[in-house]
Amino acid sequence: MSIPVSEAGAVLTIDLGALARNWRALAAMGPGAECGAVVKADAYGLGIERAGPALAAAGCRTFFVAHLSEARRLRTAVPAATIYVLNGLFGEAIDTYSALDLRPVLGSREDVEHFATFCDTVGRRLPAAVHIDTGMNRLGLDLAEAALLAEPGTAALAFEPTLLMSHFACADTPGHPLTARQIDRFGQLRGLFPGIPGSLANSAGCTLPAARHDLLRPGVALYGARFVADRDPLEPVVRLDAPIVQVRGLRTGYTVGYGAAWTAPRPSRIAVLSVGYADGYLRQAGSTDRKTGAPVRVNGVLCPLAGRVSMDLVAVDVTDAGGVAAGDTATLLGDGIGVDDVAEAAGTIGYEILTSLGRRYHRRYLD
Ligand SMILES: *Cc1c(COP(=O)(O)O)cnc(C)c1O
Repeated sequence: MSIPVSEAGAVLTIDLGALARNWRALAAMGPGAECGAVVKADAYGLGIERAGPALAAAGCRTFFVAHLSEARRLRTAVPAATIYVLNGLFGEAIDTYSALDLRPVLGSREDVEHFATFCDTVGRRLPAAVHIDTGMNRLGLDLAEAALLAEPGTAALAFEPTLLMSHFACADTPGHPLTARQIDRFGQLRGLFPGIPGSLANSAGCTLPAARHDLLRPGVALYGARFVADRDPLEPVVRLDAPIVQVRGLRTGYTVGYGAAWTAPRPSRIAVLSVGYADGYLRQAGSTDRKTGAPVRVNGVLCPLAGRVSMDLVAVDVTDAGGVAAGDTATLLGDGIGVDDVAEAAGTIGYEILTSLGRRYHRRYLD
C-alpha cells in the first residue's frame, strides 16, 4: 500500500545500500562471529519486507523479530532465513513455529515447559533459543532456572537448544559496571551448556570483544542511529523531505500554532510543512519560547521549528534561509540532520524516531 508522491505530505527515502553497508560494518566488528540482524518493529520502522531481503542479500542468515506476527511477514520475505522470535513463546499459536520454521526464544520456565510438551506431542525436537537473564530483569530464565535446565534429563532434551542468549541493559553507556557483570554471568552460563552457540551482543555489544560470542544481534546501528553514547553512528539510512506548503510573514510578537507557544522575536518568515505528529514526527520536537525544537534544513540552512508540532502540520522559522517559496524542499532527516538530532530535540532516543516513522509518507527505497 504505497502512497503516491503526488498525494503524500512528504517523501521518506530508505537507503537499502546504506543498510547493507552498515550490516557489513557490524559483521566486520566480530571476526569469527556470525552477524545476525534484529528486524523487530517493522525493521525499526523501515519496512521488514524490504529490509529483510536487503540484509539477506548482504549475507545475513539469522534474523530476530519481537512478535510472531512479524516472523510470519519476514518468513515470506526471506524464505530461507533462520528466524528467532524474541518476546517469549506465543503459546496460543504454538503450531505456527513448526509450520513456518520459526524458532521461539524461550524466556521463562513456563515457556520451556510449554515448548517441551509441544515437541513431545508432535514427536519432533524443534529448535529454540533459551534466553537467560543476566541483569536486565525483563525476560529470561534466572541463573538458578538456567542451571536446572542444564542438568541431564530435564525438559531441555525435548527441544533442540540452538542458541543461548542474554540481553544487555546498559552497553550503550561505555564503562557501565552492569555490562561487565552481565558479560561475566553470561560467560559462566555458557560453561553449563557446552556446544550451544551463544549470543549476547546488541548493537553496542558489537563494539565489546568480550561480548561477541558466536552471533551478533545488532538492531539500531543497522538503521543509522547512535548505538554507543560517545561514538558516531554508522551511515544514515533514512531521509525525510517535504515540499513547503506555504510561506508566510510574521510580525514581531505574533505567535505560531497551538497554545501560542512560540512568539516571533523579530519579523519572521514561517514555512509550513505537511508533516505532523500523526506521521511520527514527535510533538515533543517542537519549539517554544523557552526551548528550540528540532532543526530542518531549507536552502542549505538549518532552521528551527516554530511552535508546536500539530497532528498534520509543522512550521519552520526560515527567516535566515534567504528566498524560500512554496514548493521548495525542506529536509527533516538527512543532510546532516540525524535521527538522533530529532530525538534529542524531542527528549527521546533515535530508536523512537525510527520506529515512529509514519505510514502517510511516500516511501522510496534505494537499492
Ligand atoms: C532489540 C533487541 C536487540 C537489538 O538491540 P539494539 O540496541 O537495537 O541493537 C537485541 N536483542 C534483543 C533481545 C532485543 O530485544
